[in-house]
Amino acid sequence: MRIGIGYDSHRFAEGRKLLLGGIEIPYEKGLMGHSDADVLCHSITDALIGAAGLGSIGDFFPDSDPKWKDANSLHMLKSIVELIKSRGFKISWIDTVLITEKPKLSKYIDRMKINISTIGISSSSINIKAKTNEGMGFIGKGKGMTAITTCLLIFKDG
Ligand code: MG
Repeated sequence: MRIGIGYDSHRFAEGRKLLLGGIEIPYEKGLMGHSDADVLCHSITDALIGAAGLGSIGDFFPDSDPKWKDANSLHMLKSIVELIKSRGFKISWIDTVLITEKPKLSKYIDRMKINISTIGISSSSINIKAKTNEGMGFIGKGKGMTAITTCLLIFKDG
């Protein structure tokens, strides 16, 4: 068994879509980033890469590379899911927490899970939570949001 941890944060900005788990969340701002800035997908991607011992998300999708400009993060996650499965790993469990003061995300979580299940992560193997930061720090001031993910991979060797 291998465990991984992933972390990501992005700043809110006007004129951007807010995408989480590949679904668009209605909100007055979106997240700023080189790609589509889907903080949930990035955090899960980073956790899976870590558990597989393959480095970090930045090794695969450097933000200095124009190839990933406005990239679809769900597709990026899909490519990592396929890579770790090809290396003999099964995704046993993913637990992730989204931390943002606004908007409230709880009613979108089932849709996020269903959308993520389309790229090879069963919705019965993932838990997504949302919480605020109690008004503290950059999250509390509404400047950005963060996602933290842990995952468990099982190596299916023999
Ligand atoms: Mg990111």
